[in-house]
Amino acid sequence: MVSPNTATPATVRQVNRAILLNLIRTHQPVSRIQLSALTGIYRSNVSFIVEELIQEGLVCEKRGKPEGRGRVPMFLSLNPDGFQVVGVSIRAGETVSAVADLTGRIRQSTSFRTPKSPSAWLEHFRTALARLRSAAGPGPGTFHHLCVSVPGMVNQASGEILWMNALPNYSGYKLRDAAEAATGIATSVANDCHLATTCERWLDNTAGDLKNFVFLEVGDVGVGAGMIVNGELCTGHNSTFAAEFGHMVVDPSGPRCNCGRKGCWELFICDRATWGYYDATREFSASRFAEVIQAAKAGDRKAVRAFQKTAAQLSLGISNIVMVLNPEVVVLAGRVTEVWDLIYPSMANAVGTLPGKPQIRPARMSAEELFLHGAIRHALSGLFAAPQLG
Ligand SMILES: [Zn+2]
Repeated sequence: MVSPNTATPATVRQVNRAILLNLIRTHQPVSRIQLSALTGIYRSNVSFIVEELIQEGLVCEKRGKPEGRGRVPMFLSLNPDGFQVVGVSIRAGETVSAVADLTGRIRQSTSFRTPKSPSAWLEHFRTALARLRSAAGPGPGTFHHLCVSVPGMVNQASGEILWMNALPNYSGYKLRDAAEAATGIATSVANDCHLATTCERWLDNTAGDLKNFVFLEVGDVGVGAGMIVNGELCTGHNSTFAAEFGHMVVDPSGPRCNCGRKGCWELFICDRATWGYYDATREFSASRFAEVIQAAKAGDRKAVRAFQKTAAQLSLGISNIVMVLNPEVVVLAGRVTEVWDLIYPSMANAVGTLPGKPQIRPARMSAEELFLHGAIRHALSGLFAAPQLG
């Protein structure tokens, strides 16, 4: 009898299939011979798997230019019409739903105001999905997977929202089960920053070579984060939370955090904190924050000092994270990255003397785009990821 922890020939073929599909994605158009050279997989095995992918409509081939008197080479690409998924990003104000093809490109999108109750949300979402289905036309009307990005704590294994500060009525809602029952589409639910982390990895030019990195999203009133360790997203032992760097206590006598403790790091680096360093006499608002950004860009000394203070606090936390995880890269998202030249020197200074010296860079997309595209990538990941053993 075969142990469930053992790789069978079928598992090996599935792993090779995922590897080839990923290489077609990153190297397209690419020939079978090139795929064999890139992977070391026998040409006959490459051809066998490629035929399977063509049959399933995931890959298409096009004739290349004739090479001398030799055969005309055939080049392989992902078939964008072969597979469609739905990515959804719930934010406190608005929910965006998008249909994407196999390459991750968004075909259609639609949005609605996020209601206060999750059952009302589900009704709105059904309507949005019907709109997307009719926009997709009569051809590719099947959506193979649905992934929802949630700005809160989620049990990724069960798809239940455990805690959502911005929308308290959603806490305890079994979103995955409810969405599957309402739509008939296989669904996964994940934390927004965890999805953004995997999206950043996908977008990385070195495609999969980035094995250890930390993602930080500096938001209006909090900080979200995710981390990839040894090539895997870390979700904690019970799939509920990990990498909550924003709640590292940096000042036990500091202000009260909504996690119940005092002096959490996010209270010193979120946009509301920067606003407080700039103008403590007026309440923070997301639209007012644009004021301090513009002022800092124009060289206003008070605004520059406010961002320098935030940068000093950011640097403190990042240097601690680096000492624990030794990541290759720390990626930062959020509006604070709009004044990158102001905040970067302090962070570079703080990690420059540490062993490992990670690169610190801004994210490749805005945080909102990363949440939505992260959901899309996650919905596609079943195709591109090799099966796990055990
Ligand atoms: Zn906290």
